[in-house]
Amino acid sequence: QPASTGESHTVSMDSARRGRSMPAARRSGFDYLIVGAGFAGSVLAERLASQANKRVLVIDRRPHIGGNAYDCFDDGGVLMHRYGPHIFHTNAQRIFDYLSKFTRWRPYEHRVLADVDRQLVPIPINQTTINKLYGLDLDEAGVAQFLAGRATALDDIRTSEDVVISQVGQELYEKFFRGYTRKQWGLDPSQLDKAVTARVPTRTNADDRYFGDSFQFMPLHGYTRMFENMLDHPNIRIMVNTDFEDIRNDVHYDHLIYSGPIDEFFDYRFGKLPYRSLRFQHETLDQEWFQPVAVVNYPSQDVPYTRITEYKHLTGQVHGKTSLTYEYPSAEGDPYYPIPREENQVLYKQYRELADKTPNVSFVGRLGTYRYYNMDQVVGQAITLFNKLIDTQNGEAQD
Ligand code: FAD
Ligand code: UDP
Repeated sequence: QPASTGESHTVSMDSARRGRSMPAARRSGFDYLIVGAGFAGSVLAERLASQANKRVLVIDRRPHIGGNAYDCFDDGGVLMHRYGPHIFHTNAQRIFDYLSKFTRWRPYEHRVLADVDRQLVPIPINQTTINKLYGLDLDEAGVAQFLAGRATALDDIRTSEDVVISQVGQELYEKFFRGYTRKQWGLDPSQLDKAVTARVPTRTNADDRYFGDSFQFMPLHGYTRMFENMLDHPNIRIMVNTDFEDIRNDVHYDHLIYSGPIDEFFDYRFGKLPYRSLRFQHETLDQEWFQPVAVVNYPSQDVPYTRITEYKHLTGQVHGKTSLTYEYPSAEGDPYYPIPREENQVLYKQYRELADKTPNVSFVGRLGTYRYYNMDQVVGQAITLFNKLIDTQNGEAQD
């Protein structure tokens, strides 16, 4: 028995515009309209449909589900990520367990090398990095001493520059972080919140994994397959190639969940929230391998891209060809990264306050809540929102 129905759910949308035709349901209309079929939207759709028996319409303006985590086979037959490399990592058992309902996993520990001083050395900076760059043979204690001797003591660590120079000093900061960050964000690290470069640790041992999390995996058959499984429920309808603007006046629903950019939703009323974009240059080479690890970072400002990804390292696919993506940061284009700095948070807060006053709409996800979130954090945020929506509804039912 559906939890709620009613006249207000009538869908008056022209069926020809539906993209995918909707089966003639006895009930029409939706309990929830979800904008965005990425992690935020898909997790909410799955929870609402399967746990609360809600009827859900998920739309996305892109031609596919999965949001930025979308993967597909390219023309050469190599599985690649359309929007840059996505590696799943988390410390949260419950998030790993939740996603495990929709995919099996391939154990994968991410390793990254940086092209510095014409050598490929591990990033995060570790024992091997120091020994290779400086022609040394230090043990762990020796590396700790080496870094302590170079680190700049700071009372107050506020910016992304402070974080790094307080750990490794000016020279290593310039070699690994300053140029990369200026390219990636179009800002100097001194203009960015400390949380940005704090994502990358410094190590004195030889651990060369990019992430320290207890769960590090890739979905065995890719992200898109995982999303297909997540959204495969009779209560869920999906329309791709559909912008919210196209249908906002046609579809009837009780509640809207919006995972697009929050400033766009409010017609940029307080001004544009800055997002950083990327241009992805994909290529397939007629050779088996290109580089020794999945990602090589290029911190130098002499090259315009930040990193090159070679997907077969991530996916484990066996293929005679190999596919790569070069990432060129850009101010224009699709919004990929909220830019963590104080003045942007102030602007976001204005939108947040407006959002809190807007009835029957919930904002979620990296763009909807303007947070530099990883996939696992977005999943956690979406599950929390689901619990809140259901609690609120149960509360209202009891009133
Ligand atoms: P999105 O995936 O952006 O989904 C939002 C969707 O909403 C989009 O598909 C968009 O088309 C749609 N949409 C927006 N507005 C509208 C509208 N008006 N109408 C219709 N549809 C709309 N995280 C990790 O954990 N590990 C990684 O290795 C990792 N690597 C990354 C690499 C890159 C280059 C980038 C950019 C991100 C990476 N992330 C990674 C972060 C990860 O992509 C995000 O945390 C996650 O995908 C966010 O999910 P989301 O649903 O919030 O947003
Ligand atoms: N960073 C850097 N040099 C590197 C790697 C990272 O300066 O070799 C900085 C840069 O500012 C980057 C941030 O650390 O944006 C976070 O890096 P991460 O790899 O987590 O970025 P993402 O994968 O989210 O793009």
